[in-house]
Amino acid sequence: MGILDGKRILVAGVTMDSSIGFATAKVAQEQGATVLVSNFGRALGITRRIAKRLPQEPPVIELDVTDQGHLDGLADAVREHVDGLDGVVHSIAYGNPQTLLGGRFLEGPWDDVAQAVQVSAYSLKSLAVATKPVMSEGSSIVGLTFDATSAWPAYDWMGVAKAALESTSRYLARDLGPQGIRCNLVAAGPLKTLAAKAIPGFEDLESSWKDRAPLGWDESDQEPTAKAVVALLSDFFPATTGEIVHVDGGFHAMGL
Ligand code: NAP
Repeated sequence: MGILDGKRILVAGVTMDSSIGFATAKVAQEQGATVLVSNFGRALGITRRIAKRLPQEPPVIELDVTDQGHLDGLADAVREHVDGLDGVVHSIAYGNPQTLLGGRFLEGPWDDVAQAVQVSAYSLKSLAVATKPVMSEGSSIVGLTFDATSAWPAYDWMGVAKAALESTSRYLARDLGPQGIRCNLVAAGPLKTLAAKAIPGFEDLESSWKDRAPLGWDESDQEPTAKAVVALLSDFFPATTGEIVHVDGGFHAMGL
C-alpha cells in the first residue's frame, strides 16, 4: 500500500536524475502513482533517456511553459496516457545566470527579469489552467520554492521570481479551492541540481546551510524534498492549501 495508490501525477520539470522532479517521480511511483513527466526543447532527449532510470519508465510529454500551443494541447497530451490527473508537480525555474544571478542585482535587465518571472512564477498559473480540464476534485498542485522571505547571497532576481511564485500559489489556492483543488509549495534548502550549479556563488549558501540547520543538510539528497512533495500530493493533507512547507533541515526557524 502506498500513499499515492491509484493516483495519476504529472511531474513537469525533469531533466537529469539530479532534478528534484526526478526524485519526486521516483518516490511517487514507489508510493503507487502512475507518473507522467514533461520537459522541453533540446533537453527532451535527455529526459527520455533519464526517464528509463525510474522504477517504471513514464511517458514523456513535451511542455515549454512559455509556449501557448503546448499549454493548449496539454490536456489532450495527458489523455493519450491516462484518463485524468490527481496531481501536478511544478518543478520548473529559469533565470539567466549571466545577468540575473550571482550578485549583480542592481544591473538586472527587465527583459531577463520578465522571462524569469514568466518561466518560474506565472507558469504555475499556466500549468494549473492547462491541466484543470483533466484534474479531478481532490487534486493537488505542488510547486518548489526557495524561501523568498529573505534576500540571499547570489540568488538575486530568482528570489524575486520565487516571491511571485509564492504569491501565485496563494491566489491559485483561492481560485481553485472551490473546485476541490489544493495548491501548495515546498521550500527546499539548497540542492545540487543543474539549476543550482548554474548560480554563481550558490556553494557559499550550501556551506552556511550545513552549519545552521539543526537537523543538518545534505545538498546531494533530493529525497526529503521529494517525500514532502509526495505527501502534499496525497490525501494526507486534505485541508491544506496556500501553504509553504519547509524542507530545509530547520534552517528557516533559526536566528543565528
Ligand atoms: P533542474 O533539474 O534544472 O529543474 C528545473 C527544470 O525546469 C528543468 O527540467 C528545466 O528544463 C525546466 N525548465 C526551464 N525552463 C522551462 C520552460 N520554459 N518550460 C518547461 N520547463 C522548463 O533543477 P531543480 O533544482 O530540480 O529545480 C526544480 C525546482 O526546484 C525549481 O523550481 C527550483 O527553483 C526549485 N528549487 C531548487 C532548489 C535547489 O537548490 N536546487 C532549492 C529550492 C527550490 P531544462 O533543463 O531543459 O532547462
